Amino acid sequence: MSYIFISDLHLDETRPDITQAFLHFLENTAVNAERLYILGDFFEVWLGDDDNSPFNQSIISALASLPMPRFIMHGNRDFLIGQRFCEQTGFELLTDPTRLTFFDRPVLLMHGDSLCTRDEEYMKVRAMARYPDFKAELLSKSLEERAAIAASARTQSKDHTRETAMDIMDVTPSEVVKVMREQEVPLLIHGHTHRPQVHEVPEARGQRVVLGDWNTKGWYLEMDKSGFSLQSFPIS
Ligand code: MN
Repeated sequence: MSYIFISDLHLDETRPDITQAFLHFLENTAVNAERLYILGDFFEVWLGDDDNSPFNQSIISALASLPMPRFIMHGNRDFLIGQRFCEQTGFELLTDPTRLTFFDRPVLLMHGDSLCTRDEEYMKVRAMARYPDFKAELLSKSLEERAAIAASARTQSKDHTRETAMDIMDVTPSEVVKVMREQEVPLLIHGHTHRPQVHEVPEARGQRVVLGDWNTKGWYLEMDKSGFSLQSFPIS
């Protein structure tokens, strides 16, 4: 019996290879897990639960057929995932951060973008995007308008990423220590930075696991009562 954690698949119609890898992963790996956790940026973009594109429908029906309890957290790309998506797929939406106990061990789950505090420009955008009024206003627009807004936000984000120093795009080490101490957890699991690795955090007497993004490889963390391992497999 194990729990599986994934993030940053950035599922998108233009990457059928990643979609196929995910469906294969569900049928062959995730199906055996006792629980499944998706920690954000599952979709490259989610315009709202009212976007009934054939692509979205196919993902929703694959998720709906899963047998285990399953949980999803917003990322910065798919923060418009809402209640209807959850009802259709059987997923429960988790707030960021969420503190849980797995196998008698406290664990903190995050998407990870809130840890990148040195990127001040992004932190301002993030604060606005998570504001309920901002979401409501966005959802009141037509799907076409939302698609245009999302496209322009992504262009700006790519420009910003190019212009921002690489270390700013990573988590702030002191923020990691602060959050782990405040939440009193020996283990933090997050995605977002696309830098898959298990880090020791001696200042918090714990570890930080960064999930990988799915591109030429797929990544997942598997945890059971004996511990955890960060695993990858090729996407051809
Ligand atoms: Mn992200």
